[in-house]
Amino acid sequence: MPSSHELFAEAQRCLVGGVNSPVRAYRAVGGQPPFIARAAGARIEDVEGKSYIDYVGTWGPAILGHAHPEVVTAIQKAAEQGTSFGAPTALEVEMASLLIEAVPSIERVRMVNSGTEATMAAVRLARGFTGRDKIIKLAGCYHGHADSLLVKAGSGVLTFGTPDSAGVPADVARSTIILPFNDAAAARRVFEAEGSSIAGLIIEPVAGNMGVIPPRDGYLAELREITRRHDALLIFDEVMTGFRVAYGGAQELYGVRPDLTCLGKIIGGGLPVGAFGGRRDIMEKLAPLGPVYQAGTLSGNPLAMTAGITTLRLLRRGGVYTQLEATSAALAEGLAAAAKDAGIPCQLTRVGSMLCCFFTAAPVRNYDEARQSDTKRFERFFRSMLGSGVYLAPSQFEAWFVSLAHSMDDIAATAAAARKALKGLR
Ligand SMILES: *Cc1c(COP(=O)(O)O)cnc(C)c1O
Repeated sequence: MPSSHELFAEAQRCLVGGVNSPVRAYRAVGGQPPFIARAAGARIEDVEGKSYIDYVGTWGPAILGHAHPEVVTAIQKAAEQGTSFGAPTALEVEMASLLIEAVPSIERVRMVNSGTEATMAAVRLARGFTGRDKIIKLAGCYHGHADSLLVKAGSGVLTFGTPDSAGVPADVARSTIILPFNDAAAARRVFEAEGSSIAGLIIEPVAGNMGVIPPRDGYLAELREITRRHDALLIFDEVMTGFRVAYGGAQELYGVRPDLTCLGKIIGGGLPVGAFGGRRDIMEKLAPLGPVYQAGTLSGNPLAMTAGITTLRLLRRGGVYTQLEATSAALAEGLAAAAKDAGIPCQLTRVGSMLCCFFTAAPVRNYDEARQSDTKRFERFFRSMLGSGVYLAPSQFEAWFVSLAHSMDDIAATAAAARKALKGLR
């Protein structure tokens, strides 16, 4: 097997930047990405046989750990029955029922193939339902790469300092209103000024693409009240938080009921999936019942449904989220103590098994505050952690994900690696 270095050189001759998704190229942290050969449980292994404790978890989906035996077996069995039919299946019905049972605000579901498709279609539906054009988005939230949502976005575009992508028509960008996260008064002002032209507000209820930023107490409930008052839709993008911060997502955790919810990541069990759903009267504006068009050749794909259903069934068992809370809290405490002892200013934010360590002395409640972080320091921290066998997302502005496969020994080893890394940063 060629080395990662050789593969990356070859990759750059045939893929743009050598990758199929920008942050994978390690441009924010320097060096080159290890090429991955396999992963199991909490560990991921590169082509040179080096094994790492993984906190990327394929960017969120791997909540059970990688290659969970029950999921793998289920996918193998499903594949033998045929990998795609483009026709209705019992699996889709089962998946939709599981989602509706888990997330009470969802009365009808449409399965799609990625988080991007889910948010793109949810925004179109909000516009079609309300007959209004404008969408509110929060700075630093990432909702995939559809045109109207690539304005002041998080994730890779924040990492690369290009939050407003080229190629988005000015007219489209103009119909997206950007507000600061965690500022209900700003939302109230905009709705009072132009509420009658706003179709909806889309938000990551726990921001997870500008690092991890929890919502202030009462913030989501205030957004619920404001949007309702102005007959605009509240759209929760729970692609990351769904089945992550609680089985029923952030809306269960914070007790706020959106009109539409977008899902992805975990519900695909590691296969490409997205979904959106919500109030029946809104969802029934979609084709074939209504005038808002949306379709997909591979939507409801049997392998993806099988991986997702198996994952959700495993998550539905008791004790799962208690275990995640215990390991994640231990990791956050270990990291905070290591930073404190090393005298490195750091803000540890965490909601359940999503966490982030911002290298800044001031609290982080929004995009502008997140951007105060010392990304050069993160870069050095990242490289030291990678050297010690801890695989983190290669950006200050991404979440760490703890899975059910992470043991307390993994957490202790990670905290020890962080202690060493942070001492070296002084
Ligand atoms: C990952 C993510 C998306 C995009 O999902 P893709 O499957 O990558 O298209 C959208 N919204 C949020 C909150 C995400 O974390």
